[in-house]
Amino acid sequence: MSDILGNIYLNIPLRYALISFESYYLGVVVMLRQVNADLHLHGKYSGAVSNDMLPSTMGEQAKLKGLDMLGTADILNGRWIKIVREQLKQSDSDEGIFLHESGTRFVLQTEVEDENRVHHILLFPSMSKVEEVREALSKYCKDLDTEGRPKIHLNGESIAEIATEAGALIGPSHAFTPWTSLYKEFDSLKECYGDYSDKIYFIELGLSADTDLADRIEEISNLTFLSNSDAHSPWPNKMGREFTSFLMEELTFAELEKAIKRTNGRKPVLNVKLNPKEGKYHRTRCMGCLTFFSLEYYNLFKHRCPVCKKTIKKGVVERIQELSGGRETIHPDHRPDCIHIIPLSEIISIAYEVKNPYSQKVQSVWRDLVNEFGTEIKVLLKVPISEIDKKDKKVAELISLFRENRFRYVPGGAGQYGIPVPPGKSAKYKVWNDGKVVELDVKDEI
Ligand SMILES: [Zn+2]
Ligand SMILES: [Zn+2]
Repeated sequence: MSDILGNIYLNIPLRYALISFESYYLGVVVMLRQVNADLHLHGKYSGAVSNDMLPSTMGEQAKLKGLDMLGTADILNGRWIKIVREQLKQSDSDEGIFLHESGTRFVLQTEVEDENRVHHILLFPSMSKVEEVREALSKYCKDLDTEGRPKIHLNGESIAEIATEAGALIGPSHAFTPWTSLYKEFDSLKECYGDYSDKIYFIELGLSADTDLADRIEEISNLTFLSNSDAHSPWPNKMGREFTSFLMEELTFAELEKAIKRTNGRKPVLNVKLNPKEGKYHRTRCMGCLTFFSLEYYNLFKHRCPVCKKTIKKGVVERIQELSGGRETIHPDHRPDCIHIIPLSEIISIAYEVKNPYSQKVQSVWRDLVNEFGTEIKVLLKVPISEIDKKDKKVAELISLFRENRFRYVPGGAGQYGIPVPPGKSAKYKVWNDGKVVELDVKDEI
């Protein structure tokens, strides 16, 4: 199968493969294109972030990954603004877009923490609006210029008010995780954003949830779901490990806003994610001995582990189970498909049984494949297996397995990432069942 531009695609439905088509509005033909965007990143002034996390490196790596648009990260931080201005060029046609010489577009973005330790993503229309919001928040924040993710001594509603007045978009980050999210603190959007709830157009799913899980919650069914990496390093196993594809006419803030609000035919068309089982808070799990617990046992033991007496951390699956009130998944008509991927360097690590995805062996196979086929995203999603097979049989086989959804996973939980396991391989984990710890093996899963 090939499209009009000669790109060859296989194994994925046709609608993913379209990179441009015409839409008709009010009799006007508009050419929309598919834009891969990762809108939640952190720069080197946020905690535990790589010193390589600089706009120039992010721009270069995005090109290799196959991302068209990135969040700048941490744009309320004065020192970071200076670096963004030094390393990127403001677009002549759009005040809200900064360009890297590779062609990567950056949209002005930050994450903030509110007084309830809830995290929010903000996307700004221009640097002057960033400055306006910095000014407004400076009364409530001591670390605007020292922290990448500033702590604001205001609640979600007040921050949403300031953001909305400035024409910025705001929504909750990793909405279901147990430490710093909206739903760890509240049972509804309204409790967090108050009168500004109807100004919330998106939520970020976070690594531990996907659209099947999130669409069990009725109150968010009208929101756009963002899948972002929240990456702390620019390398392609982190940046772009999750992204959202939008249909947009141009790569501008105004077009992105339309796509998030789903107006004039602009809209998200695909959520690309790790399998949520890989997320660090997917299932309820003991922080000490890493045993998994059901919601019933979590409540029964009052989140104290009966084995090691450490805290049991509630997982995203169990939190969504509570919030859904037993509702099954119902996708609204506007919800795009959601597919699960595994970063290419991790696939190569598994293929060659090399633990470190940054090792020379893995990097050299990665470079060969990306040089041959253009971008990592193309290798993972679009290039026919037969083509990859000509370059590397082992990698082709594993990509084919994940495209067919045949990987198993040791689920993540209690801050530990889940582990993808190829079919037939063994990997054990512990579950509390009926008064004792039971060991399960992913190999035995049906
Ligand atoms: Zn966060
Ligand atoms: Zn324990």
